[in-house]
Formats: sequence, structure tokens, C-alpha cells
Amino acid sequence: MTRVRLAVVGCGLAARNLHLPALQERARKFRLVAACSRTAAKARAFARLAGIPEWTDDWRSLLTRDDIDALLVATPVELNLPIARAALRAGKHLLVEKPLATSMPECRAMVRLAAAHPHAVAMLAENFRHRPAFRRIRAELDAGTIGAVAVVHWATATDVAPETSAYARTAWRLNHVYPGGFVMDAGVHFVHAIRFLFGEIVRVASWAGSANPVIGSTDMHHMEFDTATGVHGVLCQYFSARGIRQDRLTIVGATGTLVLDAGELTLHRRGRAPRRLARRDDGGYRAQLDAFHAAIVAGAPVETSFAEGLRDFRALAASLRSAARGRPVRIAPDRASGLTAGRRRA
Ligand code: NAP
Repeated sequence: MTRVRLAVVGCGLAARNLHLPALQERARKFRLVAACSRTAAKARAFARLAGIPEWTDDWRSLLTRDDIDALLVATPVELNLPIARAALRAGKHLLVEKPLATSMPECRAMVRLAAAHPHAVAMLAENFRHRPAFRRIRAELDAGTIGAVAVVHWATATDVAPETSAYARTAWRLNHVYPGGFVMDAGVHFVHAIRFLFGEIVRVASWAGSANPVIGSTDMHHMEFDTATGVHGVLCQYFSARGIRQDRLTIVGATGTLVLDAGELTLHRRGRAPRRLARRDDGGYRAQLDAFHAAIVAGAPVETSFAEGLRDFRALAASLRSAARGRPVRIAPDRASGLTAGRRRA
């Protein structure tokens, strides 16, 4: 099998605006077979838009079909576990949107499921891992371009409100059943990138608050963190910052500084002009599909396994706990995250 036959479950914002353009660019690797949404009209509209021959409002009906190899799950987070459980049991490969689940017990259940079905690919759709900008930063850090990393500062601010953002009009986000509201839903990407670039987060001292309770319990968050590799940093996330959109990551090394500002990566060194290393990327959605395809057809290792999703959730949940308690929290290793879940055995 070189062309994976894929069904899309959940035909909302992420499926339409993020995954569909990437899938259309990767048509040689994926054939879209069916679209599924809770509302039949939505499924039909998405199928028409994507040129998919079939649509349904019942995701379970996809599981018994021999002409479907894999599911892309882009539903409200609380459906990740029930869909993953049934789909893996049915032998389908899975690309599941982040965050992995709604709680740590659910995350552990997801990791156990992946481990119990080693012949199916179970991959978290954590696109930050596949973003060219973060791959480049990681390569520069590994090459020693800025020497040992001393400190990291990441400040992101956006204006998320029902009047400004379609995301703030999705009922499951506003009535979220997972901790942290927008800080968990959107913020988990940043935590994943921190772990990818600087190693496991082992200690957090945090503050969290809500400037606009209309969009959920938590929309402002500071996380001071230490990683197992000795990097210290601060992540500031403001999802209710009126009228602006900013995103600036500064990585201070012994011999230079890397800055990722609004997607553009530059290298700064004393006495030299700043050097641009990368322009704004596509969000990593195409590379994410390439990785999913390679895992299915060639058994390539899955970088964004469910165990990785558990570690992201655990770090952010610990940060929210630190904020609630008003004191630092150490992050203990979780036994479940030691599984090589999501990796396909040869
Ligand atoms: P959304 O616009 O609300 O879309 C969710 C879709 O799931 C809706 O179309 C809904 O169908 C469908 N759905 C709900 N219950 C269902 C069921 N029982 N069976 C089948 N479909 C069902 O939300 P979204 O913004 O696309 O987010 C979806 C997921 O993608 C979330 O996990 C989110 O965190 C993630 N996401 C990721 C990124 C990223 O950059 N990686 C960006 C945005 C979102 P109806 O509309 O028909 O009711």
C-alpha cells in the first residue's frame, strides 16, 4: 500500500482550514475516501468541498470498512479516547488531534491502547513538531551555533474572543471538560515545542488567570520552567490580549541568540549583522502528513506518539496545578510515558 485510504472524522475548523489544504497537496500519498461529522449537512458540505465521494454522520460505520486504512480525528477533545479505542481495535491507523485527551487518566488510557495495538500507527497531530522552523532551531542547537543555551523566553499574545475568532465560537472549547481552557487547547503546542527543543520539563512555577471568562476558565498563563538538560525559561501566553497578535521566542546561548519572531527565524551574534535562517512556514501540516504516511507504509518511527502527547499534557497540567497552589511543582516521571507507544514494530 503506497496510497493510504483516509477518512476524516470531524469536519470543523481544523479539518477544513488546516488539514484539507495539506491533504490536497499530498494527494499522491492519501486518497480521501469518506468524511464524517456529527451533523450530516456538515459532513456533506465538507465532502463536496474536498471532492470526497462519501459522507456519514456515524464514525462507527467507518470502522468495519475494508476500504479505509486510516482515520484523521479532528473532533472535540473528549471524543479522542472513545474513537481511538474503537478504531485501534478495528485495526485502523490513527492521526489524532491534540491535546491527547481531557485528563491524565485518559492520556494513560490512550498510551496503553497504542501499546496494545503495535501494528497500527497511533500518532498525535502535534504539528509544531513538524514545523520547519522548529526543526531548524533544533538543528542549529545540535550544531552548537549559539553554544550552550542559557535561558529561553517565549511570549505569545493573541486576541481570542467570539467576535474575533471562530475558535472562540466552538461550544466544546467554551464549555471545555479538560483543564486550562485555551491555555490547554492552544498552549499545549508551545509546551511540546519546548520539550522538543530543550528536553523534558522537570519543574514549573506558574501563574494562570482569566481575562475573559466567556472563552473558558483560563486564557492567561506564565510558566517558568526548568528542563532536564539544565535550560531555564519562561513561557508567557496571553490569549485575551486585545487587538494584537505577537509570537516571539528568544533563545539565549553562550555565543549567540536565536529569535523566532512571527515565524521568521534569525541568528544574532556580536559584531555581525543578524542572519535570517528561515521564513514563516506552513505550520508543519504537510510534513506531519508525510510522517504519518511514512509510519504506515514504511514503519518509520512515530515522533509524536501518544506517549509524547501524555508528556505534553502532564507538563501543562502540572503548570496549572502550580498556578492554583501558588508554588512550584516538580514533574515526576510517569510510568506510562515509558512505553514505546505509537511505534510500529517491524
Ligand atoms: P470544531 O470546528 O468544533 O470541529 C469539530 C468537529 O467535530 C465539528 O465539525 C463537529 O461536527 C465534529 N464532531 C463533533 N462530535 C462528533 C461526532 N460524534 N462524530 C463526528 N464528528 C463530530 O473544532 P476544531 O477547531 O476543528 O478542533 C477540532 C480538533 O482539532 C481539536 O482537537 C482541536 O484541539 C484541534 N485543533 C488543532 C489545531 C492545530 O493547529 N493542530 C488547530 C485547531 C484545532 P458538527 O460541526 O457536524 O457538529
